[in-house]
Amino acid sequence: MVSQIMLFDTHCHLILLNSDKIDINAIAMNAVEKKVSLLIDISVGTHDFLKRGALAHELTNRFPLSVYMTAGIPPYYADKRKPADIDDVRAQCRGEQRVIGIGEIGLDYYHLYGSKVKQKTLFIQQIELANDLDLPVVIHTRDSDNDLIDIVKEHIPAKGGIIHCFSSGMESAKRLLDLGFVLSFAGNITYKKSYEIRDVARMVPEDMFVIETDAPYLSPEGKRGKPNEPANVALIARFISDLRGESLEMVASNTADTARRVFGIQDD
Ligand SMILES: [Zn+2]
Repeated sequence: MVSQIMLFDTHCHLILLNSDKIDINAIAMNAVEKKVSLLIDISVGTHDFLKRGALAHELTNRFPLSVYMTAGIPPYYADKRKPADIDDVRAQCRGEQRVIGIGEIGLDYYHLYGSKVKQKTLFIQQIELANDLDLPVVIHTRDSDNDLIDIVKEHIPAKGGIIHCFSSGMESAKRLLDLGFVLSFAGNITYKKSYEIRDVARMVPEDMFVIETDAPYLSPEGKRGKPNEPANVALIARFISDLRGESLEMVASNTADTARRVFGIQDD
């Protein structure tokens, strides 16, 4: 029996790939060739939402791809917020059917954009928005797991969500899984020093993780130095199937099913 592999890249930034230097149609073709059929284009701010929507629409029409979107304000904006920015995100969610989550949102103490207080405020406001709109969240956390866990315990994302590009160790993983979050593994799991991430990927239950590229960032080993692209989610799936001793088909179908469950995607 020939089984049909279908991969789901749960986190990429298509608008950042759509540049003078990169042909977005070639990127989409590569993805299709590698059996990627579902993508989520993740927000990097409110300013380019219409362009992102047009691009998602175009690619879905032109290729056998389903492109979904999130809306949201990343911690990067904690210090340069616009008035009524949360209302903008709300309007974007209501005005575009492709939006299936709020993200990426969260904390980043590595870069420490603005202050911790400003980052926390922006994060909490968007959890509340997600709860208002019945949407899951896509969470970014860097060097901030303790504060992040404190916040999500108090301001519980009712529809759950994903810890994108999971890059911490076992302790954080267990705490986040206990809270019902799904972990997402990206290209950095392939890097030499990422022992801890690999340990987590070996132990995480099969229905509690998904895969992503975070394209154009975080190209996996073997592709480093080049912009990452959704096609490379196939390499991450393969890498994790080797780690876990599971077939590629199993990893592909479990991660796609888990992503569908989190984001409430019924078709495709
Ligand atoms: Zn990202």
